[in-house]
Amino acid sequence: MEIEKNMLNFTVGPVMSDSAVRAIGAEQVPYFRTAEFSEIMFENERLMCKFADAPEDSRVAFITGSGTASMEAAVMNVLGSADKAIVVNGGSFGERFVELCHIHQIEHTEIHLDFCQPLKREHLEPLSGKGYTALLVNMGETSTGVLYDMPMISEFCKSNHLLLIVDAISTFLADPFSMRDLEADVMITGSQKALACPPGVSLIVLSPRALERVHASETRCMYLNLKDALKNGERGQTPFTPAVGTLLQIHRRLLDIEKNGGVAAEVKRMSELASDFRSRIGSLPLELASPSPSNAVTSLHPTTASAYDIFTVLKDEYHIWICPNGGTLRDSIFRVGHLGALTKEDNTVLINAMSDMQRRGII
Ligand SMILES: *Cc1c(COP(=O)(O)O)cnc(C)c1O
Repeated sequence: MEIEKNMLNFTVGPVMSDSAVRAIGAEQVPYFRTAEFSEIMFENERLMCKFADAPEDSRVAFITGSGTASMEAAVMNVLGSADKAIVVNGGSFGERFVELCHIHQIEHTEIHLDFCQPLKREHLEPLSGKGYTALLVNMGETSTGVLYDMPMISEFCKSNHLLLIVDAISTFLADPFSMRDLEADVMITGSQKALACPPGVSLIVLSPRALERVHASETRCMYLNLKDALKNGERGQTPFTPAVGTLLQIHRRLLDIEKNGGVAAEVKRMSELASDFRSRIGSLPLELASPSPSNAVTSLHPTTASAYDIFTVLKDEYHIWICPNGGTLRDSIFRVGHLGALTKEDNTVLINAMSDMQRRGII
């Protein structure tokens, strides 16, 4: 079986890359223990700190591994046996943080949210003044499309002196985010989401407070040892062979974002794409599933057909990928991503395809 090449991709990753990024993927991968590659990595680190609005003296670790590798590295290197963490669990990515805390024996309390339910002050208040040291949250719970109220979370963390660890894997560059304003200590993202590069690299931005913890932490893993990653980063290098080609693509993308108006312009572009799509689905038998959606993704509940069947027909008959949900949500929810090299014209193609399915009596 072959995978169709000219698909229009509305998933949440890997997403479509622009032509400049794809052209790099067609080139030979260079040797990387060179001053030239180090310069590129220094620039990657500088631009990531700038785009995350990271506080002075923050650092970036580049991990070859998908987003989950960086989630695990953050839990292992920033938290320890003296910690007591709060984990916001509103879907499969929140569940992942819970599992990571469990595996690495970090004492934790989970705030379990019902499907698409936003996090509210009353979920947090009972945990105030109870000796917690850290809070872990997926800024956008990509499995449901919910964007959490980060200023509210940040306020809670500030008043309780909690370390704030943010998985912004799908929201970085899609929704407004500032480590400085939120006093966030860790921000994690991945190459295949809004960075719109191939999968394989994830990035962890660490505040000075998080760096102190990394340096004081006990080494428990060779590959995900952030002390080692940061030490090598001082000379623009990584401890082991990284996904060199993907790092070059990330470099191109970061430079292009900078040239085209920076992170604010990129967030605006994504926000306009998401609202354009959401404003045009009124005549289709679809309901918005999330009351507080991220610009990264729209989760939809079809009222007349199975969500998974809609995914299959769009894939096989219209050459369009949307993002199916798994488990118990398989038939009730699908998601439309707005990340990557998409345009309003692409939205039109998807809306027209779904209108055609409606005419044919499929939805
Ligand atoms: C995509 C994503 C991840 C990481 O998934 P990987 O498959 O490991 O890259 C983690 N958290 C969120 C919120 C995501 O959207």
